[in-house]
Order: sequence, then structure tokens, then C-alpha cells
Amino acid sequence: MITVRDLRVVFGVGASAIEAVRSISFSVAEGESYGLVGESGSGKSTVLRAVCGLNPDWTGTVEVDGVAQGRHRDRAFYKRCQMVFQDPYGSLHPRHTVDGILAEPVAIHRLGDADRRIDRVLREVGLGPQFRFRFPHQLSGGQRQRVAIARALILEPRVLLLDEPTSALDVSVQAEILNLLRRLRADHGLTYVLVSHNLAVVSYMCDRLAVMNRGRVVEEMGVDELKRGAAREDYTLQLLRASQGYDRQAAESFRDYA
Ligand code: ADP
Ligand code: MG
Repeated sequence: MITVRDLRVVFGVGASAIEAVRSISFSVAEGESYGLVGESGSGKSTVLRAVCGLNPDWTGTVEVDGVAQGRHRDRAFYKRCQMVFQDPYGSLHPRHTVDGILAEPVAIHRLGDADRRIDRVLREVGLGPQFRFRFPHQLSGGQRQRVAIARALILEPRVLLLDEPTSALDVSVQAEILNLLRRLRADHGLTYVLVSHNLAVVSYMCDRLAVMNRGRVVEEMGVDELKRGAAREDYTLQLLRASQGYDRQAAESFRDYA
């Protein structure tokens, strides 16, 4: 469903240029859930933004559903491939009701039947019709993220690109949203690319993953290997140790893997 080959993204020019993504390749099968994991600043979001066309300055190959993508994406692309962002506060228009937020993509894509679609998608994300005419400030963080997921889902896409979809939420709410995303993938046969700095989230949500550091893929592994702690690279082992809670020894031995 997704093929990325030799993807490179550079921000800025000359001495101040930042190579955010340095030749990354991976592919994701239809119905698979693929994780991109790594520390903050390792280039995860930049990869996702390049795949969904939010950053036009990349080189390499990006194919989605067999179609090679250029700099700009057409409407058909966004019908097929939708993104959900970390921050459910910033990503919803504060002066639009849930109804308005969900009606917009239906209108842009001229799908028609907005009323029935909105009603159905709200149920699917676990929000009843009583949420339909509320404003974002009248919702909790978890409810807002359900609306953001509904907005992506209402187009009936085949691919969801998820950038830290639960990082801004309380731990208990995180689990609810992760379970919702798992159920939606199973029900609709969706393909996911999920970005997270959290190995536990990726191991719960994904089939395979790439570990990123400083714009490169350090290691690609199956989630079974991750659960067994069977990493080949020192950087991954360090990330595994760091994710097992605060460990003074781990913190003191933290090294920069350039
Ligand atoms: P991650 O999502 O893994 O935390 P990002 O992809 O956001 O990492 O960032 C990777 C690197 O690219 C960082 O060094 C970041 O500062 C830089 N970067 C990201 N977006 C921009 C931008 N629009 N302009 C300049 N630098 C950027
Ligand atoms: Mg990010």
C-alpha cells in the first residue's frame, strides 16, 4: 500500500541546512500497521508529512496504493489517505461545531449524504449524537481526538497516517483511543503508519516498525522481536531500556549515537 524509497528531506540551505530525513526506505502492506519510533527530533513527523504531501521539499520515491506521488497531492489522494495529528486542541477549528468540522470534508469531496455520514461516523468513534452540535472547548482531550479520527474516517480512506495520536492525552484516555484505533483498523481493513516516541504504544499497535535516529532508520524489526527485546542495534537497546521507566543507570550511561 505504501512504498518509500530513498526519501530525503533537508530544511534550509548552506551551513544552516538540517538533514531531517537521510535516505529512508520502507514499505507497508495493505492492512498492515507500521510504526516509526525514535526520540524527539529523529525525523518521524517529517517522514509522515512527506508521505501525505504536507511538505513538498523532499526527494526520493513515495508510492501510495500503487501511485507514484509528486510534489502535490490531488483530492483523490486525500480521499484514500488521511492523517491524524498529536494535538487534538490545535487541530480542530475552535469556532466550528463537531457537525461543521465533519461536514467540511464531505463537502470538499462532494460525497453527499452528510447527515447520515456524520451520524454514522460519530457512533463509530464512540460519540453519540449529543456531541454533534458541541464546540471543541466543550469536549475533553479524548473526545476531541475522537472527533479528529472521525474527520479522517468520514472519507472512508484506506490509509491512516497517525502522528503521536495519543501523546497529548492522559494515560487512561490514551488506552481508550489506542483501542478505538485498533478496532477501526480491524473493522475497515485500514493500513496504518503510526509515529510514536513510545515503544509500548508501537508494540501494542503495530506489526512491524522502524527505529529512527537522526534522520536514519537504525533498525527495522517485527513487533515480536521488539517484545522479546531482540534488538540488533545498540541504539534500539538503549531506547528499550529508556522506555522501561526511569532507570538511573540507563540515564547515566546515555550515549549519543551519531
Ligand atoms: P520527530 O517527529 O521525530 O520529533 P521531526 O520530524 O519533527 O522529528 O524533526 C526532525 C528534524 O527536522 C528536527 O531537527 C527538527 O528541528 C527539524 N525540522 C522539522 N520541521 C522543520 C521545519 N519546518 N523547518 C526546519 N526544521 C525542521
Ligand atoms: Mg514528531
